[in-house]
Amino acid sequence: MRPSILNPLFADITVLTGVGPKIAALIGRAAGPRVVDLILTPPAGLVDRSFQPKIAEAPTGKTLTLRVTVNKHDPPPKGRRLPYKVICSDETGFITLVYFRARADYLQNILPEGETRLISGKVEEFNGARQMSHPDYVTDPDKPDDMPIFEPIYPLTAGLTAGVMRKAVAQALKRVPDLAEWQDESWLKARDWPHWKKAMLAMHAPESQAELSAMAPTRQRLAYDELLANQLALLLIRKARIKSRGRSIVGDNSLRNKARKALPFALTGAQEQALDDIYTDMKAPERMVRLLQGDVGSGKTIVAFFAMLAAAESGAQSALMAPTEILARQHLESLSMLADAAGITLGILTGRDKGSQRRATLEKLANGEIDVLLGTHALFQDDVVFKDLGLVIIDEQHRFGVRQRVALTQKGPKPDLLVMTATPIPRTLSLTAYGDMDHSRITEKPPGRKPVDTRTIPMNRIEEIIAGLRRATANGEQAYWVCPLVEESEVLDLTAAEERFETLKAALGDQVGLVHGKMAGPDKDAIMERFYNGEIKVLIATTVIEVGVNAPNATIMIIEHAERFGLAQLHQLRGRVGRGDKKSSCILLYKAPLGETAKARLNVLRETEDGFVIAEEDLRLRGAGDVLGAAQSGFPRFRLADIAVHGELLAAARDDAELIIRRDADLKSERGEALRALLYLFNRDDAVKLLSAG
Ligand code: ADP
Ligand code: MG
Repeated sequence: MRPSILNPLFADITVLTGVGPKIAALIGRAAGPRVVDLILTPPAGLVDRSFQPKIAEAPTGKTLTLRVTVNKHDPPPKGRRLPYKVICSDETGFITLVYFRARADYLQNILPEGETRLISGKVEEFNGARQMSHPDYVTDPDKPDDMPIFEPIYPLTAGLTAGVMRKAVAQALKRVPDLAEWQDESWLKARDWPHWKKAMLAMHAPESQAELSAMAPTRQRLAYDELLANQLALLLIRKARIKSRGRSIVGDNSLRNKARKALPFALTGAQEQALDDIYTDMKAPERMVRLLQGDVGSGKTIVAFFAMLAAAESGAQSALMAPTEILARQHLESLSMLADAAGITLGILTGRDKGSQRRATLEKLANGEIDVLLGTHALFQDDVVFKDLGLVIIDEQHRFGVRQRVALTQKGPKPDLLVMTATPIPRTLSLTAYGDMDHSRITEKPPGRKPVDTRTIPMNRIEEIIAGLRRATANGEQAYWVCPLVEESEVLDLTAAEERFETLKAALGDQVGLVHGKMAGPDKDAIMERFYNGEIKVLIATTVIEVGVNAPNATIMIIEHAERFGLAQLHQLRGRVGRGDKKSSCILLYKAPLGETAKARLNVLRETEDGFVIAEEDLRLRGAGDVLGAAQSGFPRFRLADIAVHGELLAAARDDAELIIRRDADLKSERGEALRALLYLFNRDDAVKLLSAG
């Protein structure tokens, strides 16, 4: 149960004065539906009214404050729709305050003739005279508190004004309770960081650009809180999962030895290392929960296969889940020879299998005839019962978040788990997204891979590209042509895949196919299969092909509007070619002119094929928010922390979280109690639930 001291923060924002259902919906979009969402929304800028020039020296267009004498009210003639003017002055000159549709009595009240007033706003020049229309503030200099010198500016949304948002946040801050400190006092001292409440209030009251920076001490402290909550939650999940079943799987190498003899190549050092990690985990009595990261083509499948052989040697079954039907069938095809050599039985189960065939597979699974089951998410349907499932491997799973992983492995038996992803993720990011797992990385590719010739070419040379494509397909080569979106979007000016399909069909004839994200699964699979068989020579696609389909004959990858893709995504796409022994090329078509960052990003791609290097560069160039993209559901979205700049804090938070768990695994100490509040504050109720009752 959430500590009651936090209740004021977890109230709906409609409890705030001036926030009715309509405003609540707008704030909900800009920040979130609860009070806590407001306090966790940092200001993006500030208004500074400390600049107090004389009228004659006041620049136009900049927020400032003038100290003036009110000379004369100049109301519009009755019935005329002219503005109401108030003439003011100081010793250097005159300024006219301009009000449209103003109430005279109100203006006379706040601007009495002959009195001195502070007015704040922006000066404009109109017909050679200085004026200020609708000043933000008009105050009595004897009451300085009536005008804030500094005001935070929050991210807004259409229909939500800065003032309304500011007032809502100010009220939310009044609800901030005094919480027991969850950070280590000596650590706070060493860093010169304030306590939480003080930091929170300071973050919302910036007085300079420096204080708005992510590196400001208050911002660092609050970012660290968020990162610590993230790491602590992941470690709690990990601990609960590892404890959830103990089983030691040790094989006798008999099957693996046979497979090794049949293998047409030697495993790379990186593959051997990954296997060592995996065997050690499987052998340990705790449950394996490991992430295997490796670039496209780095040879993860064979690693998975050897792990499954080790399981089979000890009599346990394995399941390998692929994200698509076609990938599952490719696994079956590529592993059959080795499976025969080792003497194990493969089975396959996808959404396509129905009726008697499916029943037969299920029966063989239940009686243990099938050693290794390949398939899609159909593997996890309720009626799929294994005789003795010891190992689950999930391939290309970067679309799943930690919560989904937890859900998946909470169902049914709890075998060892290996997750494989071909998306190289910067170290810091993988710690936030996969911090609940152990990590292995395959950083080396099998020998003999030819580099993919990568070029950047402006869109206006598309005719040349099409001509080249005609020659290549006549030579029997195959190509991918990737477009960013399915439908033409006027706003983004993206070339639609459908339109490109039409133009390429006109130029190249019937050998052109189209596959996109909005197609039904079986239709998509059918097209992919025709490409895979060589019936289709040029496959126009949205990024659905990102997921690891292997078409060895494909040697050309053309990516339209490459500047709009993430680098990791481009790298992934490029990895679709260069798989066979023929020379491959990748053409990054961009819309000129390119900005500096975009140019730098595309250059990274030309210079290296190391996905990990590319991922780190992308993070550096674009920042975490962009690298992940809204669609990448697997990554946590931080509100106060920015992984691109707070990487060092993340590493510290990881160490801190490990120490906390080692000393006080159930968060029962005084600090532990405070840390529970921290977890609730950042919505990690899922992790708190795993603790024994405090
Ligand atoms: P990915 O990591 O993208 O899943 P795959 O497992 O599909 O990569 O491997 C890509 C190709 O490389 C396959 O054809 C596979 O047989 C081959 N391969 C894997 N390991 C090696 C190796 N050590 N030496 C040579 N070829 C290898
Ligand atoms: Mg693969």
